[in-house]
Amino acid sequence: MHELSLCQNIIDQLTDLAKLHDAVAVARIEVRVGALSGVEAQLLRNAFTLIQAGTIAETAELITEETAPRVTCRTCGAESETLPNNLSCPVCGNLDTKLIDGYELILARVELVRNED
Ligand SMILES: [Zn+2]
Repeated sequence: MHELSLCQNIIDQLTDLAKLHDAVAVARIEVRVGALSGVEAQLLRNAFTLIQAGTIAETAELITEETAPRVTCRTCGAESETLPNNLSCPVCGNLDTKLIDGYELILARVELVRNED
């Protein structure tokens, strides 16, 4: 499953981050999932619960935020959010657009738990 290796990658990043910041655990993470990334947010959350046990993120809450694709229009120059099944320019309706966002899977926010003593 694709999502499992993505989660493993996220856990690896969290492990490095925690080490860097002297943290003992990860409380919460937010991941941005692009609408065209091919990743199902629900599957990603399921996969995360499967592999988080025994890692620095064992008790972490995973929040996913699905982001719409963005295009710039080669005709009117507008930059807009659009729909995954319709990448035409929402401003002028032209189909000659360039996709600038939508494929990404980004670790947007991480809350670490530090050792307080
Ligand atoms: Zn346009």
